[in-house]
Amino acid sequence: MTASTDAPPWERYPHQPMDEDDVALYEGWLVRELRLPRCGRCRRWHTPPRSLCPFCWSDELAFTPLSGRGIVHLAMVLHVGPPAPGVEYPYPLVTVELAEQPGLRFTSTVVDGDADPAVIGSAVELVWIDRAGAPFPAFRTTSGGNA
Ligand SMILES: [Zn+2]
Repeated sequence: MTASTDAPPWERYPHQPMDEDDVALYEGWLVRELRLPRCGRCRRWHTPPRSLCPFCWSDELAFTPLSGRGIVHLAMVLHVGPPAPGVEYPYPLVTVELAEQPGLRFTSTVVDGDADPAVIGSAVELVWIDRAGAPFPAFRTTSGGNA
């Protein structure tokens, strides 16, 4: 299946469940930006995307780009899992605490190194890999070491 580059996110990411609260996340992916909803009242980000701010219940939310830098909070390797385009097992995953806000975390694969789990506490940055013809966010460790 091929989707043209101006196709909507649900056609570019057919394996990714999405709804009206998080479709803007994937619109960001298409232009290689990691965007999460940020509250216009209390200025906090949250994830997964919701229609109201989970901290102050404001609906003044705007998907706002993040730097993609952070620290590995949790690391694991999946040895089995559902088939998906571009996914081979063992499949390394990291949950990264993003630099912008304590507790704000994003989980994806890590592209450098082997299938060994990434080291918790490592500094990482976001990179974009191609998966089934669409940009997909991933992390790689940076030389900065622990932050
Ligand atoms: Zn808020």
